Amino acid sequence: MKYKTVTSGKYKNIALVAHDNMKPALMNWCNTHKDKLNQHSLYATGTTGSVLKNKAALDVTALISGPLGGDQQIGALITEQKIDMMIFFWDPLEAQPHDPDVKALLRLAAVWNIPVACNQSTADMLITSSLFDQEYEKSIPDYSSYLAART
Ligand code: PGA
Repeated sequence: MKYKTVTSGKYKNIALVAHDNMKPALMNWCNTHKDKLNQHSLYATGTTGSVLKNKAALDVTALISGPLGGDQQIGALITEQKIDMMIFFWDPLEAQPHDPDVKALLRLAAVWNIPVACNQSTADMLITSSLFDQEYEKSIPDYSSYLAART
C-alpha cells in the first residue's frame, strides 16, 4: 500500500460516540470542553447526539443510532476523509449487540490514521494538544495508486 500526505484543517470534523453506560462520562467531558468543541463540526451516533444536544448544548449532527448502523455511518465518513478525530467512549465491561460494527469502526480509524480517544484521559490529551486547533499533516492510504495498479 502506498501512502500520501493530506492536511487535516484547523477546524476539525469530530465524531463523538458513547455506549450507554459511558454516555454520562462523555456528556461531562463535553460539558467541560463545550466552548472548544463548539468551534468545530461535531457528528455523533443517534442517541449520543441527542444526549449531547439536549444536556450539553452542543451543536451536533446526529446520525443513526449506533446499533442500527450509526457506527458504520461514521466509518463511511472516515473513509471519505470527512472525519478528522474521534472520541469513542466504548464500554469495556459490557457486550454490545453491534460489536462487529464497533470493531469495524475502530479498524477504519486505524486504517485512515484518525486520532481516537477511547477514554477520558486520552480525550483530555487530544483536546489540550497544540495540534487540536492547528492544521496537521498526516499520512493516509493512497487508493488511487491501488486502482492504477489493478488496471
Ligand atoms: P448511540 O450509539 O449513540 O445511538 O447509543 C452508540 C453506539 O453504541 O455505537
